[in-house]
Amino acid sequence: MNLVLLGPPGAGKGTQAKLLVKALSIPQISTGDILRAAVKEQTPMGAKAKAFMDDGLLVPDAVVVGIVEERLAKPDCVAGFILDGFPRTVSQADSLRCMLEGQARSIEHVISISVDNDELLGRITGRRTCKGCGKGYHICFDAPRVPGKCDECGAELFQRDDDREETMRKRLEVYDLQTAPLIDYYRNASLLRDVRGVGSIESIQHQILSIVQGDVG
Ligand code: ADP
Ligand code: ADP
Ligand code: ZN
Repeated sequence: MNLVLLGPPGAGKGTQAKLLVKALSIPQISTGDILRAAVKEQTPMGAKAKAFMDDGLLVPDAVVVGIVEERLAKPDCVAGFILDGFPRTVSQADSLRCMLEGQARSIEHVISISVDNDELLGRITGRRTCKGCGKGYHICFDAPRVPGKCDECGAELFQRDDDREETMRKRLEVYDLQTAPLIDYYRNASLLRDVRGVGSIESIQHQILSIVQGDVG
């Protein structure tokens, strides 16, 4: 099963992707996570990406397409994958299609998670992430049992640098301008599956699973 999760920052892509990993036993490929790891390790790619990420802008297409191409070539993607946060531009979507066509693969569903901007602001400012295992939390909507500590591995939680209010507004603008056109792009390709991203995390997961398991088209 080859899936794309599409949606604005804070829509719940990462949260839902991690649950899908467990349900479908296929890997999550988050370009944001891969880029943040590169920044932390101070690789040449990380150095190039950092300024864009700090400003809430998209990292150049060639960089992220390269990341995804390399990741999709790994053996754990043979049975499928969940792309989380990629593609984010029409050019990235075209590159993905070409890349997969060359390998006789294709995307089966693009799950578009929609959430209003007011709700997104509250989600992003309250987002926390585990330093150890990467699990995501929200200080109100999905709080850890012990404040500031991960339920699964006990490591400390942190707030992403780009989850501050100014950067976040920029990221929402960038989404509207550069990424939202992908909704029509994938609708025209008959791949788009709309999911309203509001309500409990479990109910949204249930809707996504119904789509990918073929109960709902
Ligand atoms: P969010 O989960 O809030 O949508 P991500 O973790 O996916 O954020 O991305 C964080 C940042 O990493 C983005 O603001 C952007 O700078 C960069 N990034 C991630 N994925 C891409 C992509 N596909 N194309 C360009 N930049 C990307
Ligand atoms: P994305 O990867 O799309 O940027 P995340 O999965 O990181 O989004 O979710 C953003 C924030 O919203 C996180 O703090 C997460 O715990 C919280 N969140 C995710 N899904 C829901 C939901 N259905 N209701 C309320 N908060 C949610
Ligand atoms: Zn953890």
